Amino acid sequence: MPTFSELGIRPEILAAITELGFETPTPVQEKAIPHLLSSEQDVVALAQTGTGKTAAFGLPLLHAIDPELRQVQALVLAPTRELCVQITRDLGNFSKNLPGVRCVPVYGGANIREQMRGIQRGANVVVATPGRLIDLIDRGAIDLANVRIAVLDEADEMLNMGFQEDLTTILEKTPQDKRTWLFSATMSGEVRRIAKNYMRAFEELSVGRANAAATTIEHKYAVVMMRDRYLALKRFVDAEPDLFGIVFCRTKQDTQELAENLTRDGYNADAIHGDLSQQQRDRVMERYRSKSLQLLIATDVAARGIDVSNVSHVIHFDLPGEVESYTHRSGRTGRAGKTGISLSIIGSKDVHKVRNLERQLKTHFAFTRVPGGAEICERQLLTLIQKIKEVEVDEEGIERFMDAVQLDLAGFDRDELIKRVVSLEFNRFLEQYREARDLNVDMARKDHNPNARTREKKEFTRGTGEENMRSMFINLGSADGFEKGKMLGYLCGITGLTGQHFGRILLKDMYSFVDVDARHFDEVLGHFKGANYKGRKIRVDEGTGGHGGPPRGDRPNSSYSDKPRASSFRPGGKKFHKERY
Ligand code: AMP
Repeated sequence: MPTFSELGIRPEILAAITELGFETPTPVQEKAIPHLLSSEQDVVALAQTGTGKTAAFGLPLLHAIDPELRQVQALVLAPTRELCVQITRDLGNFSKNLPGVRCVPVYGGANIREQMRGIQRGANVVVATPGRLIDLIDRGAIDLANVRIAVLDEADEMLNMGFQEDLTTILEKTPQDKRTWLFSATMSGEVRRIAKNYMRAFEELSVGRANAAATTIEHKYAVVMMRDRYLALKRFVDAEPDLFGIVFCRTKQDTQELAENLTRDGYNADAIHGDLSQQQRDRVMERYRSKSLQLLIATDVAARGIDVSNVSHVIHFDLPGEVESYTHRSGRTGRAGKTGISLSIIGSKDVHKVRNLERQLKTHFAFTRVPGGAEICERQLLTLIQKIKEVEVDEEGIERFMDAVQLDLAGFDRDELIKRVVSLEFNRFLEQYREARDLNVDMARKDHNPNARTREKKEFTRGTGEENMRSMFINLGSADGFEKGKMLGYLCGITGLTGQHFGRILLKDMYSFVDVDARHFDEVLGHFKGANYKGRKIRVDEGTGGHGGPPRGDRPNSSYSDKPRASSFRPGGKKFHKERY
């Protein structure tokens, strides 16, 4: 793998990126930088967000700027204000050792006069949203006649947002012989058209597969009743104490409501959407960036261009309508080589949408269960213990209180003390999730395709060829952590039979079919009467029908509802509220 200096970057820039901790180029940088440094040819680069694409165009762009020349030499167009700010900040960091390079961001919703002054003061790089740039052009406040490099970043997003006409107007104001570098996550027909109309013969650089989701992201989905989505969301958050996430909703109102409900239930969440003033959005983003917010609840438009490090989860509270939106949402996690989870919480009628996404992105979406109460309590407890182990003790500061503390606690032995310290934090989860019902829709029963199970069973039975075998259905599958060997071991353990009494095993996400020695079939079924697996009732049978209704927890009027938790962020915690959402 080449180093940055081998790619030919000048030393002042090298020193700056070394300071930023960039050691080796990312794949898109490795491909794009040498080309952009040395070739006059235009470039279309297909790269996902979070792959290091800003540096991929930013470093060669800065390399090409003449700091002595106080004219706009490079123009970067980006779909949103957030992305503009982000790019300008990155370019500023990369060029900190290049006095004379001035990058000025211009975007809507901020004071235009100040931006005009920024340009007049001798900007040589302008990073702009198309709308605001048009405004500046109309006012005669910017001259694009000396632009030598134009970058279209997240070009697909700009087109999705309806900037096509603006792009045309802007590009027409720039010299014909400039170089154009187009970056896009996807190569849609519209992107191709823009490339064809406004670029010279271009080189296409693609990192990974086009239209594919970034591979550092794990895609998961959970299936619940629609009215249980909120409870499910809270369970996922509670089960991952270190979760730092963005939750996507479709409308501004949903975003606002969800954030309000989460806040009311003691979670540290806030909303970002188009109805907020720029100042309000800045404030929310600042809190999120500094991690004083755990959950950012966002609409697609508001979240474009957000680059916050270490987002662990992107959660789709509503699935987006377009595959491109899904890609952009998911791209907020798994950045800079980190791994991330993109989790969709869906109703059973939306499973087909997940299948479509799988097909289009050529990526597997793993089924996952909404964590149960016991699991959440266990994870919270383990995290608490870890925190106790890792906490830094301020020996000097605490020293003068220790005598009084020792005296006060003298009556408790070690075991009692440990129990009390742990209970301090842990009681609320125990109380909240006592008797918590299973929120998962039993897909083995309620498959999105009601004929699927019958069909699979038929396929499984057909061609067995073994007269002495009967096929058994069991509601455990790979989502429960089984592979074939483990399933066989499990069956033998429960029934006391050996491997020779079982034949083929067909493992699905949520259930399996197993060939069972016909002479022992009823006996095997009998062994599972009343059996549980990790607190879930096991069902086995031969046929495909004949079950009663859904399990109790799935009934519409099931009386149980999870109690919201008390805040772990507010000192003193607050009382539980009754569920309302
Ligand atoms: P981008 O795709 O440009 O939004 O970059 C995503 C993140 O990766 C940003 O936080 C960059 O600072 C970081 N980054 C970019 N290139 C590198 C690199 N070569 N090594 C380490 N981090 C990088």
